[in-house]
Amino acid sequence: MNLPGESSAHQAWTDPEFRQTLRTGARRAHETGQADTASVDVLRRSGLLGMTVSTDHGGWGWDAAAANTVIEGVAVDNPSIAIMLYLHCAVVARIETYGTEEQKKHWLPRVARHGQLAASAWSEPGSSADKRSLSTDARRDDTAAWRIKGGKTFSTSATVADFFLVLVQLPATCETAHTAEPAYGGSDQALFLVDADAPGVHVPPAPLDMAGMRGSATGMVQFQDVTVTDRDMLCSGGATTEAIQLPHRLGLTLGAVSVGLAQAASDTALRHARDRGLLEDGRFRQQLALTEVAVRSARAAVGELTAGPAHDRVLRAYCVKVSTSTTSQTVCGTVRGFLGSSGYLHAHEINRISQDADAVMHMGPPTHLCLDLIATRLSSARPSGA
Ligand SMILES: Cc1cc2nc3c(=O)[nH]c(=O)nc-3n(C[C@H](O)[C@H](O)[C@H](O)COP(=O)(O)OP(=O)(O)OC[C@H]3O[C@@H](n4cnc5c(N)ncnc54)[C@H](O)[C@@H]3O)c2cc1C
Repeated sequence: MNLPGESSAHQAWTDPEFRQTLRTGARRAHETGQADTASVDVLRRSGLLGMTVSTDHGGWGWDAAAANTVIEGVAVDNPSIAIMLYLHCAVVARIETYGTEEQKKHWLPRVARHGQLAASAWSEPGSSADKRSLSTDARRDDTAAWRIKGGKTFSTSATVADFFLVLVQLPATCETAHTAEPAYGGSDQALFLVDADAPGVHVPPAPLDMAGMRGSATGMVQFQDVTVTDRDMLCSGGATTEAIQLPHRLGLTLGAVSVGLAQAASDTALRHARDRGLLEDGRFRQQLALTEVAVRSARAAVGELTAGPAHDRVLRAYCVKVSTSTTSQTVCGTVRGFLGSSGYLHAHEINRISQDADAVMHMGPPTHLCLDLIATRLSSARPSGA
C-alpha cells in the first residue's frame, strides 16, 4: 500500500477535529437532507481530494489500497462524505489513466491544490443500471464542437461539485470496436469533462430527498446545449466501457464505505452495551462478537482486492461490492435487534447508518448488475482443473 503518512497533512483523516466535524455534519445532514457545508469544507481543506492525484500534478500519489483505507475511515464518521470522496477518486483515476497530458495539467492540479471536487453524471431517469440506454447525447455542431443535451439524475456531489464527468450517447456513426470485457456502458458512448459553471449546465440547488446518504448532495444535472470540444473528451469507443470499469480494475471500491458503515453500527452496539452494563451478558457478548467477525471479514475482503492478483480483480470487485454491502446491512439489522426499542427512536444514529447502508446496494453497479456481471464472467471462464 502506497500510503506515505509521514506529514501531518497526510494524517488529516485521523485528526480528532476533522472526525468530529464529519460526525456532527452526518447527523445534521440526515435531518436536513442538505449537504453539510462544514463537512464539505473540511473535506476540501484536508487535501484528501488530491490523495490519489499523482505527485507530478501536486497530489499525494496514493494507490487504491490507501484510498480504500481512508474512505473506510471517513465512512465511519460520515458515509455521505465517504461516497463523495469515493466517486471523486474514481474520476481522478479515470483522468490519470485516460486523460491527455493537457487534460491532466488542466484538471488534476485544481483538485490537488485547490480542493476542487469531481462528480459523475451518468444515471438518467429511465436509464437502466447498465447505462446502455442513455438519452443524453453529444452531437457535432457546424464548428466541429460538440453539443451535450440531456438530463442526469442521482449524481453524487451534484450541488457542490466543481466539475462533472458526463456519460453521453454518441451519434451512431461514431461507434467503434466493442470491448471483449463483459462490462456496462457502451462503445457508442463517450465521457466528457465539463465545468460545473459552464454555460448550459444547470444544477437544481436542492438535492434529491433520498432515504439515506442524505448529506451526499446527490442531485440532478441538466445539460442544455453545453458546448465542449474534443479536448474535453476523456474517452470514447471501447475505452468508455474500460474507463467505467477502471475502479474495479484498480481495486478502488465502494466496499470500503460498507465496511465503514458496518464498523459504525458495531461501534454503536459496543457503546450501548457499555452504557447498559451488558458486556458480561452471554447473549449480547455473542452478538457483539458476531458483528466484529463480520466487520473484520468484510475489511479483509476489501484488503485482499488490492493485495491479491490483478488478473481476476474485476470479478472479485463485483463480489466484494455485493458481499460488503450485504454484510453492512446484516450488521445493521443485528445491531438494531441488540438495541431493542431504544434503537427504534427516530433520532437514534443506527437508523441513519442503516439507511446509508441500504443506499450503497443501489449505487453503481447495484447488486443485480454485479450479479449479472459475475455470472457473465463465470460462464466465459474455464472450470478450474479443466
Ligand atoms: C446514494 C446513491 C448515489 C448515487 N450516485 C450516483 C452518481 O454519482 N452518479 C450516477 O451516475 N449515478 C449515481 N447513482 C445512481 C445509481 O448508479 C443507479 O441508481 C443505479 O445504476 C441503478 O440504476 P436504476 O435504479 O436505474 O436500476 P435499474 O437497472 O432500473 O433496476 C431497478 C430495479 O430493477 C430490478 N432489476 C433490473 N434489472 C435486473 C436484473 N437483470 N436482474 C434482477 N433484477 C433486476 C432490480 O430490483 C433493480 O433494483 C446513485 C444512486 C444512489 C442510490
